[in-house]
Amino acid sequence: MTLKYVKLHSENFDDLFNYLTGLGDLYAPVKKGRIHSFQRVLNSREIDFNYTRTMLPPKKFFVKPKEELFGPKGSEWDEEVEERTIILFGLHSCDIHGLQILDRVYLSEPADPYYKARRERSIIIGMSCIPDEYCFCRSLGTDFAMSGFDLFLHELPDGWLVRVGSVRGHEIVWANEGLFDEVSDEDLTSFKAFEEERARAFKRELNREGLADMLDLAYGSPVWSEYAERCLACGNCTLVCPTCRCYEVCDRWVSPYDAVRERRYDSCFMESHGLVAGGHNFRPTRLDRFRHRYYCKNYFDPEAGFNCVGCGRCDEFCPAGIEHVRVLEEIRGSLR
Ligand code: SF4
Ligand code: SF4
Repeated sequence: MTLKYVKLHSENFDDLFNYLTGLGDLYAPVKKGRIHSFQRVLNSREIDFNYTRTMLPPKKFFVKPKEELFGPKGSEWDEEVEERTIILFGLHSCDIHGLQILDRVYLSEPADPYYKARRERSIIIGMSCIPDEYCFCRSLGTDFAMSGFDLFLHELPDGWLVRVGSVRGHEIVWANEGLFDEVSDEDLTSFKAFEEERARAFKRELNREGLADMLDLAYGSPVWSEYAERCLACGNCTLVCPTCRCYEVCDRWVSPYDAVRERRYDSCFMESHGLVAGGHNFRPTRLDRFRHRYYCKNYFDPEAGFNCVGCGRCDEFCPAGIEHVRVLEEIRGSLR
């Protein structure tokens, strides 16, 4: 898909917003106390355009924290799949990359029918951002999205430079032609200046140099044990991570004769995560579980890339103040 660039003037934003809300349920970042959350929005004034990250990533719309997969209806098994279109407005580049990582997992054949149906009924509208002290997406190459969105809005002094990234994005622009304008040289200069300011704002960087080798060599580093002692094993970091996708499936009795099959988020920090038939646990200690997460996130797969997009959620929401990049720096340091 060739990207197209158009301009949306600030005074036309509400008309585009109203058009989008006519297509389905629109969710956007809303401030809730100290955190931000993607919430259903009916009025554009509810949106916080200056948010950095939500606590829960957009994966909650495609894989729910807890959901009923199917249960008996009469004599048939009935799969519950929602019909509503969802419009996710204001996703940052790292979260769009996070969804693409989930796509590789859930849409590989055989595709997950629940995830697939929701993904096909979603419209993704990206939005530019300025990083805070936790962001390190730039060092992972996930600070700019070239695909995975329908429209991407970049802030300009008097509106938005809009990148159109899909056929559906083009359809939205065509249906609202009167709202958009040509991009001027002045707009391109402002876009470039914004991106340069953004690049300068990154304070945190993950050193990717030989990361896989470093992890191989540092498997027995005492730094893992020090951090495992400090870790509370609460699982917050996995719940807020846009690319963590472990879940468990169980059957729950709803009457003496009926059960429903449920899926709910699981976390590799839970002791039961590594428990298999026969009572064997292949990650029996907190050290095993803590270390495992870093190998899962940072082991580079040439075909799939990293499993981390550098969103900073695990750092911001860790109650023990454990910071992803710092752990890896200390592990690297312990090899010298
Ligand atoms: S590991 Fe942390 S920084 Fe990386 S994607 Fe997950 S929550 Fe974001
Ligand atoms: S959020 Fe922090 S304390 Fe909780 S499991 Fe993750 S690393 Fe450990």
